[in-house]
Amino acid sequence: MKTAIYPGSFDPVTLGHFDIIKRASGLFDCLIIGVLRNSSKSYLFSEEERVNMLRSVTGDMANVQVCAFDGLLVDFCQEMHADVVIRGLRSAGDMEYELPMAAVNRKLSEKVETIWLSASPGYAAVSSSAVREILSYGRSAEGFVPEKLVPFVDGKGAGNAAGKEKLTLISG
Ligand code: ADP
Repeated sequence: MKTAIYPGSFDPVTLGHFDIIKRASGLFDCLIIGVLRNSSKSYLFSEEERVNMLRSVTGDMANVQVCAFDGLLVDFCQEMHADVVIRGLRSAGDMEYELPMAAVNRKLSEKVETIWLSASPGYAAVSSSAVREILSYGRSAEGFVPEKLVPFVDGKGAGNAAGKEKLTLISG
């Protein structure tokens, strides 16, 4: 049984992430989406919101689980009995960040391999930071995040205080 972990902040999950999730879930018996809980980082969406958004869009994928984690990725891999880390690549800039991180993980645990999936055409420019920027100007995240999540994500935008109440929309 091959288990892979797809770690990230997912603040919020985008169509680019979702594309990687669908493709990786077809390659492994089990895919665990690891939602980073980093107390020194400030997120727009809370841990609960980031986990719930991912659960909402992966609910019909039988081999996909969503878990929050903190600490070292290699320790989380060991805890979950996973030996592959999946990451997405959009650009050479991503590669510059990814390679040293994978090298450190490899030094910490030779059991863990990192595998990169290249962004699908059309998603290379999609990022969580672009979504947060768009929201900060009061514009909709439509076309950037899974359709189902648009009302909730837009609820976090400038001048819209209804985001919290809309959490019920996606948690079921
Ligand atoms: P992190 O803060 O760990 O980079 P992100 O949530 O931004 O977390 O991204 C998680 C992973 O998904 C990273 O490997 C990132 O390169 C990848 N990723 C982000 N957006 C896309 C996209 N549009 N297409 C493919 N991969 C992506």
